[in-house]
Amino acid sequence: MASTTTAPILVAGGGGFIGGWLVRHLLEAGHRNVRAVDIKPLSQWYQVAPAAENLQLDLRALDACRRAMDGVGEAYNLACDMGGMGFIETHKAECMISVLINTHLLQAAREAGTRRFFFASSACVYNADKQRDANVTALREDDAYPAMPEDGYGWEKLFSERMCRHFSEDFGIETRVARYHNVYGPHGTWDGGREKAPAAICRKVIAAKFSGRHEIEIWGDGEQTRSFMYIDDCLFGTRRLMDSDVGQPINIGSSQLVSINRLVDIVEAIAGLKLERRYKLDAPKGVRGRNSDNTLIRGVLGWEPSIRLEAGLEKTYRWIHDQMAGASPRMAAAR
Ligand code: NAD
Repeated sequence: MASTTTAPILVAGGGGFIGGWLVRHLLEAGHRNVRAVDIKPLSQWYQVAPAAENLQLDLRALDACRRAMDGVGEAYNLACDMGGMGFIETHKAECMISVLINTHLLQAAREAGTRRFFFASSACVYNADKQRDANVTALREDDAYPAMPEDGYGWEKLFSERMCRHFSEDFGIETRVARYHNVYGPHGTWDGGREKAPAAICRKVIAAKFSGRHEIEIWGDGEQTRSFMYIDDCLFGTRRLMDSDVGQPINIGSSQLVSINRLVDIVEAIAGLKLERRYKLDAPKGVRGRNSDNTLIRGVLGWEPSIRLEAGLEKTYRWIHDQMAGASPRMAAAR
């Protein structure tokens, strides 16, 4: 439903994967006053919506957050220095510095009188002890405590969740917190070291197809399990949560559990080829198994992500294929 107010809606991290899609989604839904902010120069944004107000700001700084939040009624914080396991296991301090972004955005929101604030948290907040088995019991929201989250990235997310809670309790800002479980789709990171498993596997399969070397490197033994949510479900769930009265952190994730080997099977089937698998057992792997328990979201929002992995991967594969078939030197080097 289109907003009746002209107050800007802020999308922090609007130059990134989910933020870029959210800006587009808000504009398509009829919101005329959307402000997208990212630290990257505009030329590096994954998507640029000309109808939005697009700003380059480093949101670790309070003054930049004040500029971003000026007059804002609703804010979405999707800005974060992050990536897949290959990045977060080796950049823990950088991940934790993102605490400045959420903290300063909340402070600026309080000063600006912002009504509602969304924070993109992660399944990485969950206690590692509950994720030691590939046949994992899906994670319920209360499995985050006692706290033993992913080192670095997960601690930052858990702390920022609590910051949202206390700004809500003490200062009356309505906060909404989604614990996303692995989001994928077109216009996401697919090379450079920050990419996550679905995009990385698509890229490797396409590279094998282009080069004729029919082999693939898989991190770990491939039997680790995860669930993956297509971007359309992520956007729908995010907007639905924002419009709800659900103040507690909530899973937004698919419950279709797959092993990494199965993920490779699906991408191979899309590509129409079979690859020899080489397992890199000392590569970053993350937890052994992780899935989203969707009891709460079904109960409070009457909805849960439902796009099948096979369908979402097909679209993602086609998009990455187009990028790699394109002429840019970076893309050519990835082949
Ligand atoms: P992304 O890296 O594509 O987007 C994040 C954006 O934040 C980037 O464009 C980056 O330049 C920007 N940013 C980083 N530091 C900044 C700063 N100091 N000031 C302004 N902008 C800054 O990541 P994404 O996949 O779109 O993720 C969005 C949010 O969702 C993040 O908070 C992430 O932790 C969370 N999340 C994502 C996933 C997923 O699978 N993609 C899963 C769980 C949680």
